[in-house]
Amino acid sequence: MRAYDLIRKKRDGAALAADELRFLAQGAATGTVADEQLAAFLMAVFFRGMEERFELPAWLDAMLRSGQVLDLSGIPGRKVDKHSTGGVGDKISLPLAPLVAVCGVKVPMVAGRGLGHTGGTLDKLESIPGFRTDLPLSRFTAQVERLGACIIGQTAEIAPADRKLYALRDATATVESVPLIASSILSKKLAEGIDALVLDVKVGRGAFMKELPQARLLARTMVDLCRAAGRGCTALLTDMEAPLGAAVGNAVEVAESIEVLRGGGPAGVRELTLLLGIEMLIAGEAPGLRGVAAGAKEAAARGLLEAALSNGTALERFAAVVEAQGGDARCIADPSLLPRPNQVRVLRAGQSGFVRALDAEAVGLAAVELGAGRARKEDPVDPAAGLLLRKRVGEAVRAGDVLAELHAQDAQRLDQGEARLRSATTIGDGPPVARPLLLERIG
Ligand code: URA
Repeated sequence: MRAYDLIRKKRDGAALAADELRFLAQGAATGTVADEQLAAFLMAVFFRGMEERFELPAWLDAMLRSGQVLDLSGIPGRKVDKHSTGGVGDKISLPLAPLVAVCGVKVPMVAGRGLGHTGGTLDKLESIPGFRTDLPLSRFTAQVERLGACIIGQTAEIAPADRKLYALRDATATVESVPLIASSILSKKLAEGIDALVLDVKVGRGAFMKELPQARLLARTMVDLCRAAGRGCTALLTDMEAPLGAAVGNAVEVAESIEVLRGGGPAGVRELTLLLGIEMLIAGEAPGLRGVAAGAKEAAARGLLEAALSNGTALERFAAVVEAQGGDARCIADPSLLPRPNQVRVLRAGQSGFVRALDAEAVGLAAVELGAGRARKEDPVDPAAGLLLRKRVGEAVRAGDVLAELHAQDAQRLDQGEARLRSATTIGDGPPVARPLLLERIG
């Protein structure tokens, strides 16, 4: 079999057979298919799509089996994970994993890096000095059993095809594709040994799916694939028109996650953490929900989660996870120890009025310009780069007010980030119509 023939077949709109898809997934995992051929295949799928009944499930299976598929049935209790389709300022996995774990549901999490204008859980966690996201699977499993949560990336052992294809998609503008997103997410998640998955499907300017119908299609596709694989699955469609919270970057998002774990943080970040946590506790049959009537479970789950945020146990568990993964846990008690930028600049409002829009995609690109994301797949990210939004959509501003604080290593990056951020911000007369955080639930 030759990659060239398979690329041509997909380019011309035909569906590939299971053995052909396995050849490509194995080639991605082991390096026997060249990067330029994989990139061409991705672009062909981007334009031609995948047939849904046979081709996409076969591709998902090939990606999943490019590495090990864990069996965590020896660990007592249900294992539940959450994955977001990607947003700006979306740091939810950081507070959510320890929070759900402390409520008695195990969270084995294989997460991703920044993709396009969106941030990645792994890049954020690695801004904590020493934090390792490349643990061997034996340590991953042992930590899930001991602490209830472990967050790693795709490795040579788990989801290796996604590791390669994810990085190539980031560099080749082939992210916004239902079959590529669905197979990328589910190949990681089904390999983790979970019983159920909760999906956060983002909708809006900062999401890969800008409109509700596309997001619904992505959500439905993933829920159906996941259930066909014998796992529980629900999806929340949530707003990503403006960034989530005030912090966009890496270390700044860790700091904001710590605020949430201390019982504070921006209202939207806290509420989304709770909404996803409720889904996870119910899917995970959390011990605290035993004997609670079906209609009362949601409120009871919220109560358990809120208690763990206010009594400090979720924060303690996060510190334990950080320490177990080699990170400097002193940063959790004192976030000022997280990496700091060489330069800070403020962006001020040029006119008075109301913040009518903060285009999440442009804000994400501003963070990338500042150094928080990658232009090429081998680029390092700057853990200290990012921005803090000081005014949110709907707030009144006066000319000269600080709109945002920008963090970078040099003035050139600050100039680029500032230009992007200015173009992202619309100030006008009167507040805009408020958008709900939760748009729909599928499941
Ligand atoms: N998250 C992933 O893991 N993959 C995608 O393609 C998008 C978001």
